[in-house]
Amino acid sequence: MNMRILVVGGGGREHAITLALSKNTKTDLYCVMGKKNPGIAKLCREVLIHPETDAEIVLAFAKQHNIEYAVVGPEAPLAAGVSDALTAAGIGCVGPSQAAARIETDKGFCRSLMQKHGIAGCPAYKLCRTPEEAAEYIRSYPGDLAVKPTGLTGGKGVKVMGEQVDREGAVAYAMTLKDQTIILEERLLGEEFTLMAFVDGKTLVPMPLVQDHKRAFEGDIGPNTGGMGSYTLADHTFPFVTDADYQAAFAIMQATVAALAKEGCPYKGVLYGQFMNTAEGPKVIEFNARFGDPEAMNVLTLLDSDFVTIAEHIVSGTLTPADVSFRKQATVCKYLVPKDYPEHPHAGDPITLGPHENTILYYANVIEEAGILKTQTSRTMAFVGVGATLTEAEEAAESACRNVSGNVRHRTDIGTEALFAKRISHMKELRG
Ligand code: AMP
Repeated sequence: MNMRILVVGGGGREHAITLALSKNTKTDLYCVMGKKNPGIAKLCREVLIHPETDAEIVLAFAKQHNIEYAVVGPEAPLAAGVSDALTAAGIGCVGPSQAAARIETDKGFCRSLMQKHGIAGCPAYKLCRTPEEAAEYIRSYPGDLAVKPTGLTGGKGVKVMGEQVDREGAVAYAMTLKDQTIILEERLLGEEFTLMAFVDGKTLVPMPLVQDHKRAFEGDIGPNTGGMGSYTLADHTFPFVTDADYQAAFAIMQATVAALAKEGCPYKGVLYGQFMNTAEGPKVIEFNARFGDPEAMNVLTLLDSDFVTIAEHIVSGTLTPADVSFRKQATVCKYLVPKDYPEHPHAGDPITLGPHENTILYYANVIEEAGILKTQTSRTMAFVGVGATLTEAEEAAESACRNVSGNVRHRTDIGTEALFAKRISHMKELRG
């Protein structure tokens, strides 16, 4: 009898999760998603098109199909208690409880947990209960600050002084954040990297380092997006992250998981650490309580071991590094997005795929009508190029993107040698 597994969520990340699970041929896959993702639907026995934050309906669908394990992709269902509902019904869930997911869903909780448990890498911060309090602090603070609401914003709620706004712009932005707690953080300078780990409550097994590109346009300019693309190197690390930086980042993640267990909310799922590698070492920009999107597409494309076994061991609390291996190849993920994304994206435009050798295609926010793929207002689809070197992987992803016709665009610079060289020299400059 096949193992019955439910995927919750319907974006590019969830397509990557579903494809990785489907490599185990003894599985029957099911999915609950808000909109029908044609890539995911092809891999599943049955899908339910329904808001994935509706814990009651997700649970009913899981029970109807005798689901044994579930993997929750996005943060919204975690925040809505989907993992709690599934776990209470005896379904093994890869995805933390609502309480443990506060590490992502409440930035104030995250920072105070780090502070209370003396965890390294926490930037200086201040929580403000009103926009007026935030405005006063911003005006009196001697340096640059990052201004964000403490709740979920899909990666788009941050304004950084000296980047997107000046001091008065930061004040004006804070004044728009009514009825929510505002967090002001020292502006961190350095190179960003993502370290994700599988977590079984106590043991963390790391995945290859990834670097995402949040800005909409080439050269890291324009508004923040959900992420325009990302890359990994064949050796799973980066030259701008020293061994000491890596060990420090991993220790921060281990200490955070231990702190959550001490607070009575053990963490099971994927922990995502977004770090700024500063002159003094890695500092935490944020934690996410799930795979990153696009980062999931890089690492799951490389996953060599059985994702189903990893899921079982996360749930049973018996995960070991021997469960997890990744191929030593480089990957470059490039997202195709509607032309005027993220500000004025147009939905319903037809797109036609072209040749896409040496890439994996992940569908995200795209629907199929009468055999024609059509854009939606969010990121459309991504190609992950795979190769022995970064250049090989980049060329594969780039040519696949160029061969798509339709009202979509992508960042041509992600994964290029030129941008990569800039990252390395930036870090050198910073450390002298
Ligand atoms: P977040 O939603 O917290 O992941 O932030 C989105 C982006 O804003 C990050 O990828 C960073 O580029 C930037 N950012 C957030 N916090 C800070 C900070 N304290 N200092 C500098 N940049 C930041």
